[in-house]
Amino acid sequence: MLKAAGFGVLAVVVAGVAGVATTRGESSVAAVQVVRTSISPTPVVTPRKPTASPSSTIDLSLEGLAGSNKLYVAGKVPAVRCVLPGKPPQTKAELLAYARVMVACMDKAWAPLVGQQATFYPIKTVQAYDLKKPAASPECDKPLKNMDAFYRKGMICFEWPEFSNPDEPVWNLVDFQQLIAHEYGHHVQQSTGILTTYDANWWKKSKAVQLENERRLELQASCLGAAFLGANRSSFKLSGERLRIWKFIVRHVGDENNTLKIRDHGSYKSHAYWTTQAFTSTAPASCNTFKAAPKRVS
Ligand SMILES: [Zn+2]
Repeated sequence: MLKAAGFGVLAVVVAGVAGVATTRGESSVAAVQVVRTSISPTPVVTPRKPTASPSSTIDLSLEGLAGSNKLYVAGKVPAVRCVLPGKPPQTKAELLAYARVMVACMDKAWAPLVGQQATFYPIKTVQAYDLKKPAASPECDKPLKNMDAFYRKGMICFEWPEFSNPDEPVWNLVDFQQLIAHEYGHHVQQSTGILTTYDANWWKKSKAVQLENERRLELQASCLGAAFLGANRSSFKLSGERLRIWKFIVRHVGDENNTLKIRDHGSYKSHAYWTTQAFTSTAPASCNTFKAAPKRVS
């Protein structure tokens, strides 16, 4: 993810092979970028293959496995009891406290959906880092300078100074909510085998198809995050002005912010499409980016 003035961005380092990062957009909007790492994969959940009779063809493609996941028929994300800190977080300690409460709420909300097909594992840890003081956060090993957060094997790390601007506390908070929800979307993908399937398939494809698949993965993470936020909009106070801010942010997350011109996270238009519809439906059924037409994941 590329740094830019404005919104905070999340990143995810997927189960080893792939890393996914969200960055700040140049025009004060979050952008996302995928980064590959050399960490060996340790998937939490073995990817599920579709059941099929011996005579039928088993579809091992990303579309077949990730696109037919039981997550899409697991129902709506529930509203859960989520008591968030009332004051917009500013300091490292406040941001960490907020993120940890939020993640605990997402664990509670997603467990029944993920649990329909796999053992649910809560996020193991949430950590904050400062690129200027890497020794203070050894857990968030080697964060990339161009990302604002990442997910890696059950851990979420975020770059806290990106969200500590005292001039825009509410804006930062909504941006932070969007970021943490997106990163948690990668945890849902890992918990349901979608991420593992993605990891196993990405290297087989042409660069163009790899990028398209990365966009499907990233757009889905934001979509799942939006489904949670929509279901829990009351707890997160996402109405009125804050909802207008959220809608503005999700309309300005995308590859347009990537100064390297890498098309790995999708356009503003695609990001807005998936997040807006999932916020309304509150269901992962709205997030099957793996079976969407290419133009929907452009
Ligand atoms: Zn991501």
